[in-house]
Amino acid sequence: MKTIGLIGGMSWESSIQYYRIINETVKARLGGLHSAKSVMVSVDFAEIEALQHAGRWDEAGRLMAAAAQSLERAGADCVVLCTNTMHKLADRIQVGLRIPFLHIADAAGERIAADGLTTVGLLGTRFTMEEEFYRERLERGHGLRVLVPGPAERAAVHRVIYDELCRGVIREESRGRYVEIIRGLVAAGAQGIVLGCTEIELLVRPADSPVPVFPTTTIHAVAAVDFALA
Ligand code: GLU
Repeated sequence: MKTIGLIGGMSWESSIQYYRIINETVKARLGGLHSAKSVMVSVDFAEIEALQHAGRWDEAGRLMAAAAQSLERAGADCVVLCTNTMHKLADRIQVGLRIPFLHIADAAGERIAADGLTTVGLLGTRFTMEEEFYRERLERGHGLRVLVPGPAERAAVHRVIYDELCRGVIREESRGRYVEIIRGLVAAGAQGIVLGCTEIELLVRPADSPVPVFPTTTIHAVAAVDFALA
């Protein structure tokens, strides 16, 4: 079994899910007392969030690259960045790394394509929904058409992530708002919904959506186990 390296803390509410899903998946596949070999570097999300919203991506990139390198030195065989948003810095992280970086959008894109879908709606932070790094990876890398909600809906999705989900707050009212937004994407042609923020699956369950959802924490964590056990 290979050792999975995790960059966590963004937020820890989802990092803890990665740890659980990775270990549950190894247990399901190997049985007995088996659990995953892993190392994690966990950052202070208050520092990261401040850099994101100030547009100080260079500094954030240096922090992420340093975290990835310390995972490599600690014996990790791959790097799993436990947030969609910070994949904006994927290129910076991969430079100087000898071990593979398991990109979250590739894990999602492969799953969506395997399910035969061609058009998906994307929910995430406004960085993930509005910038090109994530959408392009799904579009160019996996041949998908990616729809995002309108400006007011994107603001609502973003606000719930930072003000509620990353603080461990799950509100029925916010679930209702997300479901409304998902219905809008489906009406616009989405055949599935990418839960492109690692906390969204704490709020939106498969049964809340009229079309299949693609929970990126679960998909990414399982992809890490596939790598570790290959
Ligand atoms: N975990 C979230 C994501 O997957 C948001 C937190 C962050 O900005 O890293 O994008």
